[in-house]
Amino acid sequence: MHEFSVSSQCRQTGELVAESLKLDGYDVYRTTTQADGIAAATSNPPDVILLECSLPGADSTDLLLKLKAATKEWDTNIVMLTESQRDDKLVLALEFGATDFVSKPVSVPVLRARVRHAVRVRNSRRRLREDKEMAEHATAQNAAFLTKIGQEIRTPMTAILGFADVLDVYGDRAKAPLHRLESIDTIKRHSECLLSMVNDLLDLANASGGTLDIARRRCSVLDVVRDAISLVSSDAARKHLPLKAVFDGPIPESVHTDPDRLRQIILNFLSNAIKYTDRGNVSISVSTLQSDVDGPRMRFQVTDTGIGIASKEQKDIFQPFSHLSPGRKYGHTGLGLSVSKQIAELLGGTISVSSELGHGSSFTLTIAAGALEGVRMFGNVTKEDLTGASSLFPLSSPSDALNCRVLLAEDSPDTQRLLDFMLSKQGADVVVADNGEVAAKLAMAARDEQRPFDVILMDIDMPIMDGNVAVATLREAGYDLPVIALTARSSETDRRGCLDAGFDAFVSKPVFHKQLIELVRAFSEPKSAANESTMSETT
Ligand code: ADP
Repeated sequence: MHEFSVSSQCRQTGELVAESLKLDGYDVYRTTTQADGIAAATSNPPDVILLECSLPGADSTDLLLKLKAATKEWDTNIVMLTESQRDDKLVLALEFGATDFVSKPVSVPVLRARVRHAVRVRNSRRRLREDKEMAEHATAQNAAFLTKIGQEIRTPMTAILGFADVLDVYGDRAKAPLHRLESIDTIKRHSECLLSMVNDLLDLANASGGTLDIARRRCSVLDVVRDAISLVSSDAARKHLPLKAVFDGPIPESVHTDPDRLRQIILNFLSNAIKYTDRGNVSISVSTLQSDVDGPRMRFQVTDTGIGIASKEQKDIFQPFSHLSPGRKYGHTGLGLSVSKQIAELLGGTISVSSELGHGSSFTLTIAAGALEGVRMFGNVTKEDLTGASSLFPLSSPSDALNCRVLLAEDSPDTQRLLDFMLSKQGADVVVADNGEVAAKLAMAARDEQRPFDVILMDIDMPIMDGNVAVATLREAGYDLPVIALTARSSETDRRGCLDAGFDAFVSKPVFHKQLIELVRAFSEPKSAANESTMSETT
């Protein structure tokens, strides 16, 4: 049985319409005043509203808009009753969202057909909306599930990678038998590959579901490129490949984009270039493009002299699992470029490839730079600018001792043991707490006894009291020393949640030995310029 509403000032028309529709089994509500019509539509939205074009003393377009607003969630269709098809009010009503009209004098068969049609349209529109909501809900659930899986995988990966790192860093490589060194390298290589596969799969799933985190802020292109280079420079050095960066000025001091995602793409280009090049060199060139249509853009091009890609294979290269025959030989997954493509699009850009088999490849990324009015432009970027302290890895030596007190709040015994070992070996005085409640109590007591912790490293997912609640409790109590979230979570929403809760920085596990030491150093030592830049990057 369909709800049905008629608004007609004309008694005969109103009655005729109402009676004939009642015979068809509709519930008909008839009203002759605006206020009553709006109240009825709001309290019990009908499937169809029949509305007179000419309402004495009332503006039918205004009423139509109010009725549409009142029944928006219900997808009600509004059919106009009109004296003439030439009526300006009818035209206006159709412009403003009436879906159909019936001319007067009303022909009952025409009226019934139009009403049946209006109900059908309303039902299918509603079904579509419900299907869309269900699909969106399923996508969100899927993304949440994948994020959780990623988190679950990252926890054991922290232990595997971390302990392999410990064996590597603290074992005496010179004395270790070859099979032991090879075993450690193999564990590290495969664990890193597995981790990057998990991260790529998560990014890919989130990108296709429209839930990939993008956090734009003003950031330095120079820093992003420098960080990417610093992350691959040891791989390039191992293969004796010169790695060159060319900044083709003018280059803006800052652009508006997501620096982490931008670095992810550049890193993918650079590590591929190094991976697939045995002889020659790898270079990255950066330039600014001005376009009246798209606004200013940044262009990054990574060129290598490696194995190249056959032209027939280039069109599939940005598809997931597109590793070509050489990819299999080099033992990789073929996910990186498809993730890069999706991210590039989210950053308002594109990626492309030009390559010749046996003669090397060039991968190009362009991204929207955001408005550049008033932004300082550099004509030249010197080699020193590039080889200066990376904002991710400052230039202190990892062999420098840590002279600080660290409170480690972590519930996983293996991760506790790992982080405690790494930090203690480096000279830090480490106290371990199993949950947020114990950590908050220890931190407050240490501060009150004038022996404060220089840094607290706090997991988020802990029993009894989680990290977010613990840090909020500490901040409420006036605790203002550094607290860093060290967590298997990795999304932008998690990062923002942690910073809002009161953390000074957010770092995703697994965390490598060098990264951990530098992180603690940056927050525990008097701030130098390098430390300041680390802090602004990690927070
Ligand atoms: P992966 O390198 O992990 O396999 P990518 O998605 O980054 O995944 O790359 C997909 C494929 O594209 C690689 O397997 C490789 O065959 C090819 N490829 C990517 N970059 C290069 C390059 N610089 N030179 C030659 N081939 C490349």
